[in-house]
Amino acid sequence: MRKSITSPLQTALDLDAQDVLHHFRDKFHIPTNILYSEGASKPKNPIDVESYKAIYLCGNSLGLQPKSTQALLLDELKVWADRGVYGHHEHPKSRPWIDIDQTVTKEMANIVGGLQSEVAVMGTLTSNLHFLMAAFYKPTRERYKIIIEDKAFPSDYYAIESQVNWHGLDPSATLISISPKPGSYVLDTRDILSLIDEQKSTTAMLLLSGVQYYTGQFFEMETITKFAKERGITVGWDLAHAVGNVELQLHDWGVDFAAWCSYKYLNSGPGGIGGIFVHETQSNQGRLSGWWGHDKSTRFAMENEFVAIPGASGFQHSNPSVLATVSLLGSLNIFAETTMKELRSKSMRLTTFMEDLLIADEATAKNFEIITPRNPVERGAQLSLLFKNGIMEDVYKALELAGIVVDKRRPDVIRVAPAPLYNTYEEVFKFVMELRDILKNINRSGDQH
Ligand SMILES: *Cc1c(COP(=O)(O)O)cnc(C)c1O
Repeated sequence: MRKSITSPLQTALDLDAQDVLHHFRDKFHIPTNILYSEGASKPKNPIDVESYKAIYLCGNSLGLQPKSTQALLLDELKVWADRGVYGHHEHPKSRPWIDIDQTVTKEMANIVGGLQSEVAVMGTLTSNLHFLMAAFYKPTRERYKIIIEDKAFPSDYYAIESQVNWHGLDPSATLISISPKPGSYVLDTRDILSLIDEQKSTTAMLLLSGVQYYTGQFFEMETITKFAKERGITVGWDLAHAVGNVELQLHDWGVDFAAWCSYKYLNSGPGGIGGIFVHETQSNQGRLSGWWGHDKSTRFAMENEFVAIPGASGFQHSNPSVLATVSLLGSLNIFAETTMKELRSKSMRLTTFMEDLLIADEATAKNFEIITPRNPVERGAQLSLLFKNGIMEDVYKALELAGIVVDKRRPDVIRVAPAPLYNTYEEVFKFVMELRDILKNINRSGDQH
């Protein structure tokens, strides 16, 4: 008997049915396409919002809102309304503001693979990078260089370059950047290691991103960290695109410090509170200080002798935004119901499913190059498609009109990121089918010119 061939749609539906994480989707608000796209086709029946959910593949830029977040925020507004300043200590939901960060540090530490004492939730990413560099970048006459990526996220580059200037050094003689081989978009670990080795006697610090924002490459963090540390180099990581996306073991890998934002894969909302990791062996670093990093038992004695809380908490400056912190809590409560191992496992399958569909059809695949590593262990959730012949903007616009939310990086790249917490195989299928149609139309109208 002939084996029947399963259609890709049926495969997608089967994979969703088998997906042990599928129920998490219900815990999120999925935007409706009528909300953001002026030209988008409106629902025929306005009540029929359900079928007009966007296909949201942009969790690498701004994660979706957990349904539980709104109530958490309203709780805090109510406590503030009812109790005013007493909310710092007496809280009907047992979340006294004085220790509000303690509601999230445990799960945050799980997600990055750190001890709870090695993680603090504070501030925002770029500012935190500055504070951490103030503690960890201590250039000497012999060791002063910083190894970075050639295509670092601009905010990171500005932060690093301005730190160098701040120390009165010349960035052109201090910043050593790693570039891909000609014709390639991703960095080869061997090239990273040989550069480290070559520069070891004059390098003070290495600061890379865990997952590269543009290509989606997941660097071999453990190998790179150990190699650099053996050569006396301080190692820091920007985990903006890695946290909540890939499995991290910052403690075991011996990472000195790391920082991340929480509004991408961690779904804390726009401008959400950031996080830092400081390895327990590094918690005595000299630093820029504030009262929230001071020993809790004497914090309010208001004497001018700084006594740091041991661990990462001692790097805090200000009392954290309660609203931003509980907004993160809404999402971390969901993460606490699963594990990064499980999320990563689905994520690898989901992204590979997308990749397979994208390249299955020759007429579709000839329009772009996937610049993300093809090996699932070398990437996170994202695929970056580099479009040929200047068609990226047209493709992006057409996707938007179809209610598909992705992210563009001019001039030619569209980043697509299926997030395992809320995206489905069916959505991935629909995205690829829509893209096929869009490219067919664009190629057809291109032929007429
Ligand atoms: C998203 C992102 C940022 C954003 O910085 P903020 O300080 O949160 O505005 C910085 N660096 C990288 C690598 C990012 O991916």
